[in-house]
Amino acid sequence: MPDRTPYIAANWKMHKTVAEAAAFVDALLPRIAATHHDVVICPSYLALNEVVERSRGSAVRVAAQNMHEEQSGAFTGEVSAPMLAELGVEAVVLGHSERRQHFNETDEALARKVPAALAAGLEPILCVGESEEARDAEQTEAVLERQLQADLAAVESGALAGIVIAYEPIWAIGTGRTATPEQAQEACAFIRDVLRERGAVADSVRILYGGSVKPANAAELLAQPDIDGALVGGASLDPGEFAAIVDSA
Ligand code: PEP
Repeated sequence: MPDRTPYIAANWKMHKTVAEAAAFVDALLPRIAATHHDVVICPSYLALNEVVERSRGSAVRVAAQNMHEEQSGAFTGEVSAPMLAELGVEAVVLGHSERRQHFNETDEALARKVPAALAAGLEPILCVGESEEARDAEQTEAVLERQLQADLAAVESGALAGIVIAYEPIWAIGTGRTATPEQAQEACAFIRDVLRERGAVADSVRILYGGSVKPANAAELLAQPDIDGALVGGASLDPGEFAAIVDSA
């Protein structure tokens, strides 16, 4: 099985001004100086440049939290993949459940965003995950399969290895309610099976778990065979807590 470098991503959501982002990076870098993991920070658009510049030469790579699927055009307020790539941004979170819930992000748009990110040289971090109702109705696998098939519909199987998938059960995001390691492992293994059926070199794809990851629960989650990293929201806002999660991978 190919080695999969652990991938720990900080999703700051709508937190941190540019000055706060700069202070975070300055505090984080010495704490992760020895890591060989991929450490990814997803700040607001406004702080992208600051985090790119301040983290040069370190393990940190920078991702945006969203992008538009077109390269340019009359889409007021939007940002495109080439604009992000020009800044030195290397990845982009796509399909986060907060965007699906509050901003009407659709699978149709994601089916265009994923290839647009790849075309611009950005690594998509595609988020999928079920609601509490879907889990209670034993529909978790059906939801994951539907999202993966729809969102990756326009991606050739050879390109799937360049995509990171984040399994984020909606009921665990920002709630303090973490999926058990067994629940998270089961879902991530299922995601890998779906990718394998799509012809991907599925053993090379990094699959992350996200949902109330903290220093106290990270090691157990990250020890699961199909969990290759974490997408961290709340606990990523503090450099000490985030560094502790990086260390536990
Ligand atoms: C997230 O924002 O993707 C997330 C998982 O948030 P939290 O860690 O706060 O649950």
